[in-house]
Amino acid sequence: MRSGQPLRAQVAEVARHLHAAGWVANHDGNVTARDGSRFIATPTATSKRRIEHRDLIEVDAKGQVIGSGRVFGEIGLHLAVYERRPDVHCVVHAHPPNATAIGASRGNPLERPFIAEALVSLGPKIPKLPYAQPGDAARAALAPWCELVDAVILGNHGVLAWGADPEQALMRLELVEHLAKIAVAAATLGGVEPLPAAAIPPLLAARAKAGIGRAADRAVETAAQLAGDPAHAAHAAHAAPPAVVACAPAPHAAIATMSPGGARHDLSAVVREEIVKALRKP
Ligand SMILES: [Zn+2]
Repeated sequence: MRSGQPLRAQVAEVARHLHAAGWVANHDGNVTARDGSRFIATPTATSKRRIEHRDLIEVDAKGQVIGSGRVFGEIGLHLAVYERRPDVHCVVHAHPPNATAIGASRGNPLERPFIAEALVSLGPKIPKLPYAQPGDAARAALAPWCELVDAVILGNHGVLAWGADPEQALMRLELVEHLAKIAVAAATLGGVEPLPAAAIPPLLAARAKAGIGRAADRAVETAAQLAGDPAHAAHAAHAAPPAVVACAPAPHAAIATMSPGGARHDLSAVVREEIVKALRKP
């Protein structure tokens, strides 16, 4: 994708790439991009094979079409991300076969990191959401994760990834599918071996240094300290300042988030529980 390309052209190019890469079939997949207070979107019931910039539609923050065209039914998932992540300007959804296979089978080999570079790029886990009916239920299942990660596997469905621009959102979806492909291949060899727990803090520090750490990463630090991990404590004593989370609030204990049921919870407690599990040695 060429930098400086008009936003509509970038969205159309991402949509065509979803088809060219084999990540969608029929009318699957959708792409949106934030354009001020509006959102550019791929139209519903259209193959992504031939999407051009003139085919794209516009919707408002409630998903209502501005002008002509029909919006896709999963627009609520995209808007859930935009509402919670002011840094995000593009959301991409597709059904890439390997990641979707993970979404449609038991377990989640992407729950714990097994490739160092991927941990730096995408954080300590790619969560797999339970299947939810399209609409409010799916949106509620996604909401708690929007501020913590940049991509999720949707149970029995596909992948949703987001980023600062179309290029970044697409690369994140691509990386999730690539990791899934590796995990599926590794399954024939006995399954992926997660990275050693001691390897994770330095990688998260590298991620923070690169400015791409998220709130969940800070929770990892907290979790390891609370868990009394001596290896981590030694690292933390020499660690760089806390991660600069460019786009999400730092997870102080007082920060609250919305649960799917609408109740408010302590964000760090929610994340801590997840991450402590991820840090446990096999
Ligand atoms: Zn879908």
